[in-house]
Amino acid sequence: MKAFNYNINPARIVFGEGRTSEVAAEVARLQAGRALVITTEAQQADGEKLLGELGSAGVALFCGAVMHTPVEVTAAALEVQRAHECDCLIALGGGSTIGLAKALAVRTGLPQIAIPTTYAGSEVTPVLGETENGVKTTRKADTILPKVVIYDVLQTLSLPPQVSASSALNAIAHAAEALYSQEANPIITLMAEEGIEALVRHLDAILADPQDIEARTMAQYGAWLCGTCLGTVGMAIHHKLCHVLGGAFNLPHAETHAILLPYSLAYNAEAAPHAMRILSRALGVEDKPWMALYDMLRRLGLPTSLKAIGMPEDGIERAVELSLQARYWNPRALEAAPLRRLFQAALTGDAPAAF
Ligand code: NAD
Repeated sequence: MKAFNYNINPARIVFGEGRTSEVAAEVARLQAGRALVITTEAQQADGEKLLGELGSAGVALFCGAVMHTPVEVTAAALEVQRAHECDCLIALGGGSTIGLAKALAVRTGLPQIAIPTTYAGSEVTPVLGETENGVKTTRKADTILPKVVIYDVLQTLSLPPQVSASSALNAIAHAAEALYSQEANPIITLMAEEGIEALVRHLDAILADPQDIEARTMAQYGAWLCGTCLGTVGMAIHHKLCHVLGGAFNLPHAETHAILLPYSLAYNAEAAPHAMRILSRALGVEDKPWMALYDMLRRLGLPTSLKAIGMPEDGIERAVELSLQARYWNPRALEAAPLRRLFQAALTGDAPAAF
C-alpha cells in the first residue's frame, strides 16, 4: 500500500427519515436560538414549513438563493440576517442554497445547518464558489463547512426524476475522481465505491417511482459518501472542465457533470487503471466504466450532448484554451489536441474514444 494522508472534515451527520423534525434541537446544540432559514423561491413553501418546525428558534426566512452564489444576493441575505440578529443559518435546498449559507457563514462566522434536497454534495465540503461581475471564484475555509447536516429523505421526494438522475451523476463524478485523486487514500476509496454503488443501484427505482422511500434513502446515503469524497480529496480533469464550461457558457451544473463524465473518464482511463477497475466493480461491469455511464445517460433519458444543454458549436477552442489555463492536477497531462477531441465528441454526444 502506498503512503497516504487522511484528513476528514468535522461535521455532525443526522441521517434518517423525518429527522428535519429535530432541527430545533440541533439549533440548541449549537447554542443558538435565532435561526435564519435560507432557500430558493421555488422551495419557499418548504422554507415556511421549516420555519414553523423551528418554533421560537426560527426568526427569518430568505428565499432568494440562486445558482452560482452572486455576491448581490449574499448582500441582500446579510441584511436580513443583521436585521433579525440571527445567530445561526439553516440551508434547505441544493448546492445553490447551501452555497448562499456558506457565503453568509464565511462573512459572519455563524454556524450552519444544511438540509440538502439534491445529491450535489456541497453540504459536506469546506468549499464555496461565488460570482462577482460574472466571474466565479472558489475558496476554501473551515468556517465554510456546515457544522450539522440533516439528511432527511422526505426532503428529496419532490426532486423531479430527471433532476434526480443528473444530480446523482454529479455525485458519482465526485467519487469517480476521488479514486484517482492525487490525495486518494484507502478510506475515501471505500466511500467512493460504496457511494457510486448505492446511487446507481437505486436510480431506476427512483425514476419509476420518485416517492420510493427506500430507493431515495439509499441514493441520499450514496450522495453523502460521494460528497464526502469531494470535500476530502482533490478533484481532477472532470471538475476542472465542468467549471470551465459552466463559467464560459453558463451551462447547467448537474447536467454538465452528467454529460461530460464518460468523456473525462475515457481521457484518464490508461493513466488510472486501478481507479477504472474499482469504478467498473461499483458500476457492475467488466471494463470500460465510462461506457456504462455513457449508456446510463441514454437509458435514463437525460440530455446526451453539450450542444443539447447550450454549448455553442464554435465554443470548443475557447473551452480548450480555458482548460489549459490555471492547470489542475490530473493523472494524465492536459493537452490541447486530445482535449479538443474530447470536447468535440461531448458536444455532439459521440461515444467516448481513447482521445
Ligand atoms: P440547485 O441547488 O441549483 O437546485 C436546482 C433547482 O432545483 C432549484 O430551483 C431548486 O429550488 C430545486 N430543488 C432543489 N431540491 C429540490 C427538491 N427536493 N424538490 C424540488 N425542487 C428542488 O442544484 P444543485 O445541482 O444541487 O446545485 C448546483 C450548485 O451547487 C452549483 O452552483 C454548484 O457550483 C454548487 N455546488 C457546490 C459544491 C461545493 O462543494 N461548493 C458542490 C456541489 C455543487
